[in-house]
Amino acid sequence: MHQTIQTLAPEVIAQIAAGEVIQRPVNAVKELLDNALDAGATQVAITVKDGGKKLLTIQDNGHGVQAEDLHLLCKRHATSKLQKYEDLTGISTLGFRGEALASISCMAHLSVVTRHTASAAGLKASYRNTALEAPGPVTCAAQPGTTFVIEDLYYNLEQRRKALGSAAEEYSRILDLVGKYAVSRPEVAFSCKKQGERRADLHTISGASRRDNVRAVYGAAAAQSLLPLVCRVPAEDESLSVSKDQETELSFSAEGFVSCLHFTGRRTISLIKINGHLVQCRPLEHSLEAFYHSHARLKPFVFLDIQLPGDQVDVNVHPTKHEVIMLHQEEITQALCDALQHLHSGQLQCSCSHAISARA
Ligand code: ADP
Ligand code: MG
Repeated sequence: MHQTIQTLAPEVIAQIAAGEVIQRPVNAVKELLDNALDAGATQVAITVKDGGKKLLTIQDNGHGVQAEDLHLLCKRHATSKLQKYEDLTGISTLGFRGEALASISCMAHLSVVTRHTASAAGLKASYRNTALEAPGPVTCAAQPGTTFVIEDLYYNLEQRRKALGSAAEEYSRILDLVGKYAVSRPEVAFSCKKQGERRADLHTISGASRRDNVRAVYGAAAAQSLLPLVCRVPAEDESLSVSKDQETELSFSAEGFVSCLHFTGRRTISLIKINGHLVQCRPLEHSLEAFYHSHARLKPFVFLDIQLPGDQVDVNVHPTKHEVIMLHQEEITQALCDALQHLHSGQLQCSCSHAISARA
């Protein structure tokens, strides 16, 4: 059958785009966590009902939204974080596309209560299909910060709703994500619980150490097994001799923790942060995993905080911003694998091996 070419209606375009950004409840949680962190929050509390399909609330104590910005909050491509394309190089916020709230408002009932730092009272507003719903923002009592409430996710997308996993599966994805954020950002207190439960399934306190948060999220054995890994290219003494025209050459630093060779988890856990973004970098993760696999098939815990010059990483390659592209990816992977090899071939003792010998 021959069809003529037609331009899609704006609502259809919005639905398609929304579906790419928010593929399941955990993607909505990620976007709202990023927003909370971008707003400078030091406390973020997540409540989940029915795996996030029925209800998700994310409460933060960040700077809040100003009254005059509320009509634009869920407009597509409306953002306070980016003005021109060039700003993307070296961007320090986690968000920048002004798409998340727009997308969520197209596939759920979205409301917000926010109190800006400069304001004595809160405001409540609801959104549908990117627009502020009548009667517009109303004044209410509120703590400083912002709470988003997402209800009935995919109420208008039956296929998507059916394709989701059980409530338990979707909840465990959310817990997994919040755990990664807690380890990645120990200066922020995170909690995550099911609605109606008193006890949080995950709870960290602001200012805990990264190792404390590994213990809280992944257990004592993982926390005790950690060895610090540091890798800088060029090494500090070499960097003094780098001339101007060599500046585009390989240059990065990585700091983090990796498990020792006495530890094996039930599964590999790798948390890779590149210029502040928690991302998946499969080639790097596979190489690190392969190193441990070659040692009695260990399943490691790896946390790496990698810093690259802003022009050597592209954070804008995936709708969910899950993946990034690094220039010099192979060299960076090789340097990190060398550092890992060096660390484990050294005489460094981990508290885990002490613990084992103490028990023996
Ligand atoms: P982006 O994060 O890419 O800017 P979003 O759709 O996620 O796009 O958010 C749109 C805008 O709403 C943000 O730029 C920010 O100004 C505001 N915003 C969203 N969440 C919060 C929050 N928790 N606290 C304060 N402002 C927020
Ligand atoms: Mg955002």
